[in-house]
Amino acid sequence: MASIYEYSKEELATLVEGEPGYRLDQLWHGLWTDALDLEDVTTIPKTLRARLRAQFPPSLEVANDVASDHGATRKWVFRLENDSTIETVLMHYDDRVTVCVSSQAGCAMGCTFCATGQAGFSGQLSVGQVIEQVMFAVRAAAPARLSNVVFMGMGEPLANYATTVSVVRRLHDYLGLSARHLTVSTVGVAPAIERLAKEGLPLTLAVSLHAANNETRDELVPLNRRYPLERLHEACTTWIDVTGRRLSFEWALIDGVNDTDQAIDELSAYANSLDAHVNLIPLNPTPGYLVRGSSAKRVTEFRDGLVRQGVNATVRNTRGRSIAAACGQLATVTNAKRRSIPVRSA
Ligand code: SAH
Ligand code: SF4
Repeated sequence: MASIYEYSKEELATLVEGEPGYRLDQLWHGLWTDALDLEDVTTIPKTLRARLRAQFPPSLEVANDVASDHGATRKWVFRLENDSTIETVLMHYDDRVTVCVSSQAGCAMGCTFCATGQAGFSGQLSVGQVIEQVMFAVRAAAPARLSNVVFMGMGEPLANYATTVSVVRRLHDYLGLSARHLTVSTVGVAPAIERLAKEGLPLTLAVSLHAANNETRDELVPLNRRYPLERLHEACTTWIDVTGRRLSFEWALIDGVNDTDQAIDELSAYANSLDAHVNLIPLNPTPGYLVRGSSAKRVTEFRDGLVRQGVNATVRNTRGRSIAAACGQLATVTNAKRRSIPVRSA
């Protein structure tokens, strides 16, 4: 069954046809401005609410809700109608409040170091299912205001292309988030990056690079065998040329694998040729990948090495590790084939 957040403003109007004209505004205000669950939009009459609720049951059921970092990080596990689960993470920082949303249940890309990739794919999410994740975050963030949405949860957003495009448009048009505050992270689906560049969407693109030589990247990111670094470079060039925006590369630092001096040189050359920003993330532990993340000392040395070569590089601090809510740790995909990983509270 569809979520009411599947609907654009024009489509919502059709649901309240025959009602007084102000009903649409009340419904719209309740759902989008106040981020209320349909049940709580008390400005509209009970009977209408009941009719809409029967037509649009919530598409996400909370299966787990855990907090860490003294309440600054919160993770929800949501069960979908088909019984698979997805995860959403809300993070409060000094200067912003960010929600990390899932774009698919699981992921088919199979990156070796990523828990979602290790668990496999169990289905696409709809526009409404992604927006409902954002709405949970808006409600939970209050009185703070949700400021950023990042597509860095489960799944590959560009492998659920139409949904991603539609969600970005609505978050911009309806929630008022700007391109700087909307980030889509991709493993590097080159043709989809080129197509996305031409959509004229307000978003920031992050590309998960992790290696700047094909041999290592083939190992870490299987999609590299299909779209190797040279092809990805072409797509990134198109992105920059068409949108006029910079992009950033994500790099999970893995001990002895992609944190060597040679890796600094390779990454510097690749990033500089595209004037890209580099975001370093110390690898988070996952059950299916036994190599460790780089030490804190090596992370700093690596960053300094990049900076010396003129790269704009920053280290992203890790949130939510203790509740398996950090980058790459989302994996409670439950379906017939897979065992779920229990969520422990911090
Ligand atoms: N599929 C998209 C977005 C979801 S993954 C992508 O791959 O970009 C979000 C980010 O988490 C990506 O940069 C991914 O490479 C990173 N990531 C995956 N596993 C990780 C791990 N174990 N430690 C740190 N980062 C990880
Ligand atoms: Fe999928 Fe991204 Fe994980 Fe790769 S890193 S398996 S693309 S979620």
